[in-house]
Amino acid sequence: MPRVIRDTQDLGPGKPVLIYGAGERGAQFARDLLRAGIPCRGFLDSFKAGECCGLPVYRYQDAPAQLLEECRVVIASFLHGAIANRLSLDGCPQFSVLADRDEDINPVPLARDTEEALDLLATMPISLGRQGSPAPRGGGARLACNALDQCLWVGMDGVKFCCFMPDLLHYQPASRLVPGLESLRRGLYARIDEGRPTCCGSCMFLTPSTCRPGSYRIRSLSLGHNSRCNFECSYCKTRKNLRTGSDGLALRLVRDILGSGRLRPDLEFSWAGEGEPVVDPDFEGIVGLLLEGGSKGLIYTNASIHSPLVEDGLRDGRLRIVTSLDAGTPPTFRRMHGVDAFDRVVETLRRYRAASGPDGISLKYILTPDNAGEEETARFVRLCGALDVHRVIISSDYTLAANPFAGQTEDFRRKAQAAGLEVSLSPWTA
Ligand code: SF4
Ligand code: SF4
Repeated sequence: MPRVIRDTQDLGPGKPVLIYGAGERGAQFARDLLRAGIPCRGFLDSFKAGECCGLPVYRYQDAPAQLLEECRVVIASFLHGAIANRLSLDGCPQFSVLADRDEDINPVPLARDTEEALDLLATMPISLGRQGSPAPRGGGARLACNALDQCLWVGMDGVKFCCFMPDLLHYQPASRLVPGLESLRRGLYARIDEGRPTCCGSCMFLTPSTCRPGSYRIRSLSLGHNSRCNFECSYCKTRKNLRTGSDGLALRLVRDILGSGRLRPDLEFSWAGEGEPVVDPDFEGIVGLLLEGGSKGLIYTNASIHSPLVEDGLRDGRLRIVTSLDAGTPPTFRRMHGVDAFDRVVETLRRYRAASGPDGISLKYILTPDNAGEEETARFVRLCGALDVHRVIISSDYTLAANPFAGQTEDFRRKAQAAGLEVSLSPWTA
């Protein structure tokens, strides 16, 4: 894993330097290297080739392999996370990230070894908040967590055991990634057993168990790496369109993981995350690989684009989908999602429903001031009937401490149940 350097003094003696990033920051660092008498062989860049500060600039994919072996790479770019992911995955042996003195770079992915990562994780809160966990009971029970034993979360910035954890590791070849997660898991459990601080220590999902598995084998794969989206939902709190796509990294990662022999035969995957899965250029590649491998999956899609792969997966019962429709009429749909796509979405759902069994599709309705009206929810219930969809999820803003639509939620639920729909409320009870 790369380390952070703040100036040329942090480099120490070693191979000549290649600077990744032929922009202003890289050019300044090249001048600093010259002043410090540290040899620099040129620049790498994701887009440019040519010359900068009198030194050659190589497009990364065209750079001579020997040059990369002979040099240590210093990333001098604000896109350092994506570049570090790329270098990790390509097995680049030595690279570091240049940061300003006061620049805060997420430290865990840049830890140099497992112990350093564990030390850093002990100081970082999980996103679930501090919940407090029970002390281990007698009878040989130790604290354990399902996610630590068998889950892998692939996010925009790297991978981790669960969505609550701080980001852990950059993408790497699975030959190093899975053992890296295994040693982190062992280290976390060792610290939990010793009563030392960890990020997991306060988590409600850490519970007494007498059957903590001996090794990490993946049964649940959560994909959340894609941030591309073609909607503008009024309630969206994701980092959508922050990046143009997964750029092949997640596809390579999934391919490597499938070849690692660490997957359980009953692997299930889900794809939610920060954008619309179907617009990820690697959607078909990733889901195709997972389905070919025999796993089952759940896709959270806005259904604005029909996917033949999703339709096939629904047909043979290996895929299920959840779509947040949030409306029963085109004008409300437009207010909720920022696009005029009600008819298109309904048509895609109709095609998916024609292929799937009754439980293949769940429609979600996130209540907001824009769609909580009685007439709108009644139209939604009627639409579910017309589409012959049986499962409905009524939801609200997760970040609020209480449901602001308690009365409407209860009316909506009664109406939907009276129409024969199976209703779940999330996260509220009513
Ligand atoms: S204990 Fe909590 S934070 Fe730690 S891996 Fe499990 S779910 Fe995630
Ligand atoms: S579909 Fe999802 S990611 Fe896209 S805008 Fe809506 S909530 Fe955000």
